[in-house]
Amino acid sequence: MEGIGDDCAVLRFPADDLVWSIDASLEGSHFLMDWMGPGDVAHKSFHAALSDVPAMGARPLAAICQLSLSSRVNEAWLRAFARAQRIVSEQTGVPIVGGNITWGKTVGVVTSVLGAVEKNQALKRSGAQPDDEIWLLGELGLAAAGLRILQTEEELQDVRASERAVCLEAFRRPHAQLGSTENLARVATSCLDVSDGLVRDASRLAEASGVALVFEPESLQRILRPELKSVALALGTTPKELALFGGEDYALLATGPSAARPLGARALGFVERGAGVYEAQGESRVSLLGGFEHGA
Ligand SMILES: [Mg+2]
Repeated sequence: MEGIGDDCAVLRFPADDLVWSIDASLEGSHFLMDWMGPGDVAHKSFHAALSDVPAMGARPLAAICQLSLSSRVNEAWLRAFARAQRIVSEQTGVPIVGGNITWGKTVGVVTSVLGAVEKNQALKRSGAQPDDEIWLLGELGLAAAGLRILQTEEELQDVRASERAVCLEAFRRPHAQLGSTENLARVATSCLDVSDGLVRDASRLAEASGVALVFEPESLQRILRPELKSVALALGTTPKELALFGGEDYALLATGPSAARPLGARALGFVERGAGVYEAQGESRVSLLGGFEHGA
């Protein structure tokens, strides 16, 4: 791969299928300058863009980046941003092979990522089958807790600094699930990344696959991190609420046969015939989308 300097990046295509996505992180919509330093903006915009690639069971090859700057940023901000972007690119092994800078009214980072996956192995949202298990790779709710901490004006009672820090870090510096995607691509029947909240993204997968996703309460309980429990309590909500309806987790939600569950994936429930997203209560199903309830 040959990078910045010429008018286009030159990519030598492997014999795989290629996946290609684009993602915007915009001041006002995705972040506030008061809540995120330049390093945070660089890290988060990059990982948020990368996240769509493992969601297809693919590995990222390279990225290009469009940076919009406003009069609110100075040279020090730009230097810190550039340094952090170089570090996150090195850490993930995904080179930034091109970019462009413009000036506007707000700060924004648009990142396009190219990835590769073995021929015909790309994971779609539409492949989930009844009797598949639901898998989670990554954490849920911590980023939403971090956001709520930033939105809260008051001091949080009974929360340790370390617990607060875990949530803020999850919000400011999320990590795309780049680790185990090759294996996942071989065994999963469907996948997407959780960026708009578990229930909302699960409903997209359920709809695309024409199935119902059923979460088991014990499994949901098991994935709640202790930090999430104590911060949620202090925020006057529940850890489960944050895990189910929070956002910006950049975890992967996948489905596949239970016998093939990959290392690092945690089972959250199962797929069955029907439509929608539910929590199992014995043989009953409680809809997580609107409280609708029916017998199984
Ligand atoms: Mg996505």
